Order: sequence, then structure tokens, then C-alpha cells
Amino acid sequence: MGNMQISINESQERKTKPSTDGIAFGRNFTDHMFIADYTEGIGWHDHRIVPYEPITLDPSAVIFHYGQTVFEGLKAYRAKDGAIRLFRPEENFRRMNESCDRLCMPQIDEEDALKALKTLIKVERDWVPEAEGTSLYIRPYMIATEPHLGVAPSLTYKFIIILSPVGSYYKEGIAPVKILVENEYVRAVAGGTGAAKTAGNYAASLKAQAVAEKMGYSQVLWLDGVEKKYVEEVGSMNVFFKIDGEVITPALNGSILGGITRKSIIEMLQAWGTPVTERRISMEEIKTAQQEGRLDEAFGTGTAAVISPIGEFSWKGEAFTINGGQAGELSTKLYEELTGLQSGVKEDPFGWVTEIREEAAVRN
Ligand SMILES: *Cc1c(COP(=O)(O)O)cnc(C)c1O
Repeated sequence: MGNMQISINESQERKTKPSTDGIAFGRNFTDHMFIADYTEGIGWHDHRIVPYEPITLDPSAVIFHYGQTVFEGLKAYRAKDGAIRLFRPEENFRRMNESCDRLCMPQIDEEDALKALKTLIKVERDWVPEAEGTSLYIRPYMIATEPHLGVAPSLTYKFIIILSPVGSYYKEGIAPVKILVENEYVRAVAGGTGAAKTAGNYAASLKAQAVAEKMGYSQVLWLDGVEKKYVEEVGSMNVFFKIDGEVITPALNGSILGGITRKSIIEMLQAWGTPVTERRISMEEIKTAQQEGRLDEAFGTGTAAVISPIGEFSWKGEAFTINGGQAGELSTKLYEELTGLQSGVKEDPFGWVTEIREEAAVRN
């Protein structure tokens, strides 16, 4: 690696681009995708951009049986001046390698992966939507492809990047959600795979989510898998609480996924001089703070929504309102700063944004 060559096979057909107005998340894909193959003893090879189409795998491929797979999620934004912006993409590929390590999957060359992503986006540049709040969602992932029913790491893999235009997460302003504190099911346990972005964690979360939805809640608040006392995450987002003016988020303990939005918010708050602490926080502490009027705000963080304020939580049959069910001042400010910086409306004092420039286009 290091001198990766990407072959480009341009699609003869071009899809009609959907209107991003009211577009469903993750159902529309661009004309091309990036693929690289891995073979034990050879390494990564055959880096290519090809038409977006179904892939063929042997029915005994390891991915289908033992879930050896990892994924990432990030977005490309169109700035007012037409430039395409990526938010901390190197963090995604670093995290992908950490996930791969946990799942006994091969490492990718992070620089090559970023180069592959930029090349693919240049090919698909017309797919990056322009309307405010819209973006091109990027899904890099790796799957174990060896035909083998033995429980062992696969000897072959595919690394793929697909792209999907997405609309604005909040159509009518940043809206708070109602969440249900989950007391039966757990998402992940210490020593398990909670800190890795791997499919099994999401399969394991569907049941609780379905139950919560049926009860009228939009997400579940996950507690630790041992004592079911300490807060871990909300849905597939990290979670923050503002109590007595201090911002608190659960410390990364091995079962929590370390979000890039989470990390950025911590760094942003530190830059602003706002007290922010990473530590263990129990449901009991949150309930007490709410009852004593000290719980100012709560919100989830992740690439999709950026900030998702929590307006109400229900725990053991009791419901608690946060900030009168409204988006708080800090949640709103963080949302505006982060989305402003991503889309280029605001300055990027942190150097988090990578612009994709047309003149550097690589065409083979
Ligand atoms: C992806 C993800 C997050 C958020 O990560 P970001 O990098 O901020 O998008 C949080 N929790 C879980 C479980 C996730 O899968």
C-alpha cells in the first residue's frame, strides 16, 4: 500500500437524482462505489471504482454466519461556494481500524482509504446536495468474504464505500425526543464489542427499540450491562447531560462507542471554557438532579442528527421532563456551531474540515 492505484470504470447509465426534500434516510445510492479486496498473504489489492450494483458472495461467506464486519458513517457537505467539505474523515478511518482490530479483521491504510473516498466523491460530485441541512452520507464498511463455515477469522475481505444523498434531519427546527430508559435489554457489555462499530451491536438493539417505539418513545437510553445503573448511550448516539451548569458525558468504558461528534463536542466545550466532564453517571443521579431542578439539558450526539435534545425520559414507569420539553440553549448553540462549521457557514478554528478540490481530481 502507500502507492495505491485506483481503476475507474464509469457507469454507462446515470440515475435520476432524487429530490432531497422529504427523502428517506439511506434508501438512495449514487452511480458508483469503491471496492478493494483483501487476501491473506497478499494484502489489499484491486482498488476500484465501479458502477453501484449488487455484489456476489458465496452463501457460506463468513459475514453471513458469524457477522465479521465493521462499518463507518460520515457526511460530505456542500458549502455555499460549491466546495465539498468532509468533517474529520481521518477519525472515521482510525476508528474503523480499531473496530477491525476487535473483530480480527485486517487493517486498512488510513491515508489510502481517505484518498479512495475523495476520489469516489469527485466522481460523484454532482450527488452532493446543495439545500441547507442536506448532505451526502458516506458508508465505508468491510465484510468477511471467505467461503467457510468454521468459526475463525476470514482469510479474505472486501472494503467498500457507498454514498447516499440525505435530506435535512430537522425539517422544522431542532426537535426534542422522548426516550425510554431500557431496564431489560442491554446494548453491550464491558469486554464485548460495544466500542466497535460492528453489525451485531445493532442487531442486538432492534428488540428494545421496537418495544420503545410501540410505547410511543423514539429511542431507548441504554444502561450498563452489569448493574443496569449507569448511563451508556441513547439509541445509536452518545449522550450528554447538563447539570448545575456542568456538562457530563459517560466516560468511554469499553462498551460505549466513541463518537466523533462526542469528541468534537467535548473539544468545543473545552475551547469555550464550559465545564465538561467524562465520568460514570447513574440514572439515580440524573433523576435526583431532575427532581431538584438541576438537570438543565440532555442530548444525544451522532453524525446523523448531530445533536438530538431529549425533552422527556421515562424510567421505571415514571416520566420526567427536561427543560420543559424544549431544546435547551446549549443544545441549540452546539447544533448551530457544529453544523455551521461542517457546511462552511462558520469558521473552522479547529481545523476539522477537509475540502475536496476539483483541480486535484484523479482520473485514470
Ligand atoms: C456511530 C455511533 C455513535 C456516534 O458516532 P459519531 O462518530 O458521532 O457519528 C454513537 N453510538 C453508536 C452506538 C454508534 O454506532
